[in-house]
Amino acid sequence: MKKIILLIFSFYLALVGIAQVAEREYDYIFFENNNLPGAYFFSEVNYTEGSYVKNIGHRLPVCDEQFFTPPNSLELAYSNGKGNWEANIEFEKIRGNDYFKKSDYLAFWLFNESDRTDHLPRVALRLFARQRYSDLLINDKRSVSLSISDFVTGIKQNGWVWVKIPLEKFEDFRARPNAIVFSNNDASGEGKILIDQLELLPADLIGKLAKPHNIKAKGYELHVDVEWQPVEQQNIKYIKIYRSEDNKAFKPVGIQRPYFNRYTDFTGETDKTYYYKITYIDYEYNETVASDIAKASTRELDDEELLNMVQEASFRYYWEGAEPNSGLALENIPGRKNMIATGASGFGIMAIVVAAERGFITREQAVKRMLKITSFLKKCDKFHGAVSHFIDGPTAKVEPFFGERDNGGDLVETSFMFQGLLVARQYFDQNTTEENKIRDSITKLWEAVEWNWYDREKENKYLTWHWSPDKEWIIDHKLIGWNETMITYILAMASPTHPVPVSMYYNGWASQEERAVKYRKDWGKTNDGSFYTNGNYYHGIQLPVGVSNGGPLFFVHYSYMGLDPHKLTDNYTNYFENNRNIALINWRYCSENPKNYKGMGKDFWGLTASDGPWGYQAIEPNVENDNGTIAPTGALASFPYTPQQSMAALKNMYRNHGRYLWGEYGFKDAVNLDQNWQAKIYMGLNQAPVTVMIENYRTGLIWDLFMKNEEIKEQINKMNPALKKKN
Ligand code: CA
Repeated sequence: MKKIILLIFSFYLALVGIAQVAEREYDYIFFENNNLPGAYFFSEVNYTEGSYVKNIGHRLPVCDEQFFTPPNSLELAYSNGKGNWEANIEFEKIRGNDYFKKSDYLAFWLFNESDRTDHLPRVALRLFARQRYSDLLINDKRSVSLSISDFVTGIKQNGWVWVKIPLEKFEDFRARPNAIVFSNNDASGEGKILIDQLELLPADLIGKLAKPHNIKAKGYELHVDVEWQPVEQQNIKYIKIYRSEDNKAFKPVGIQRPYFNRYTDFTGETDKTYYYKITYIDYEYNETVASDIAKASTRELDDEELLNMVQEASFRYYWEGAEPNSGLALENIPGRKNMIATGASGFGIMAIVVAAERGFITREQAVKRMLKITSFLKKCDKFHGAVSHFIDGPTAKVEPFFGERDNGGDLVETSFMFQGLLVARQYFDQNTTEENKIRDSITKLWEAVEWNWYDREKENKYLTWHWSPDKEWIIDHKLIGWNETMITYILAMASPTHPVPVSMYYNGWASQEERAVKYRKDWGKTNDGSFYTNGNYYHGIQLPVGVSNGGPLFFVHYSYMGLDPHKLTDNYTNYFENNRNIALINWRYCSENPKNYKGMGKDFWGLTASDGPWGYQAIEPNVENDNGTIAPTGALASFPYTPQQSMAALKNMYRNHGRYLWGEYGFKDAVNLDQNWQAKIYMGLNQAPVTVMIENYRTGLIWDLFMKNEEIKEQINKMNPALKKKN
């Protein structure tokens, strides 16, 4: 009896354990498709003497004419002569894609132009680490190199064959490789093959799939949104999308991963009618029968409709893409599916308000979501009332994603969260049980934040960014402007229960003391703006306040989604004018494009913090910090400051770059055309500012709601004279 109870108990523990760590496991894919034509960024080609591999700038070309999974494959055209050639295809490390399915095989689809197999390349696995801040590889190791011809059966001339090599054939190579290396074998002569779906696969994910159903399609100007009932089934590898123009001849146009329930088919044509059907693909590339057919037509959209389209698509990140236990936002998608990002969630709440007001969802739907959000926030870990940067959705516990020191309160993320909550408290103003409950919950959460606790020294100078319950003030990052954290000071001063004195605005945020000046100099790498004020001209525009020449554009977005900068004036400037000038400097810099990057220009601009070819980085409009990466949120969240330049960017990004830049949740996070690289993710901090700031430009809705809060109104009234007074 005891034994059985013990067994049941440990089984229960195992279940709980699984529930706590069940992050989504991704497929380990080296190449699937590349949205941008031309060179594949994550490849590298080398050759010596009489050997050669066709390449574009030492990268492999993408082939759009032939593919196994639509719309493309990789071309490997080589010449085996004296010397050697090799082509590396590197694994792209995507933020938060940290867990993977079991790997049993190296697999790829191979298209052979001839029926010979003796010239087929060799393949090896490669493992390395990258030295920080450089391209230098360290601990570079390679497995044995195997001849592909030993693993190919039934090769067809001009046909696709699936090559599966058990990983144990690569001998003692245990870790997941960073790259796959194709290289010449001993047979001389030329060959051309195509490679598609280069990946590590599990052996055991098989099982019959049911037919897909409930497919819908909706046309926009140059694309159609194809939507289906959400499926996240372990053994569905892809959803495959077929399009027809006559409802008879269907051709495959794309694949989608099963954690999305929509696909955006960017056809680039207006006034066309299309028919769609989808199938499921399993882990052996078996395909189910097709779904029913959905029909949609594209048509030209006017400016208002284009704005609606962009606002709604970006909002979907927080709606369809939300963490299910909390209804809050994820850090990035695809990424950790359990990891809530609190600042992005505050931005998302403002996007939900816009969506309810514009009818993308009903008010009832928004109310239901807000009740879920507020009841989650009541129970999640808090640190003197402040939330952490990341929270694990299933357990509501802090998630120290940035390292073990970051296991406590994050005051800046907290202020982004409360900027959103205070907007919601004004919007949900009906005298119903549900809406009363939303307002009461938000007020309780807001009054529980001990803003003054985060004045570590209690000297009424600086707010401190983080506090940890066991490591206390170990990070010790003081909030010193000018940057994205003005909202943190404003909310701390406006708190009805735990406020900090208004004097901290000048003594902390805009401090003139040596510590603050050094802080600004260190990150700006210049004296410009090191005393908070700046006054210099950049590209013909004067900058009253700001370090360097203004910094990345998110500085003029994050604090000012609710906080109306028109209404903020201090001794130095009015912040609408200041922010507009920062946006204009950014636009003029991109128009001039001093580093001559491909694509960058007056209608393709916006340097801010985003994903990039070398990871997440804050990009600024100066030659030291600009690497050619453009994030659509930069120009689009600047709409209130630069309406014409932002609209021109929106149209150009959608109409001329939409084929690779437009997706499930609006514009993808970023693109670097110079490197032929494009983000595979959307980021929680970047999508909502697009929805919200376009709304502020159109109606001022979110600004009005935030500024209507009594505490904010009172404080702004008190603050403005105080801010204007020299002390
Ligand atoms: Ca493909």
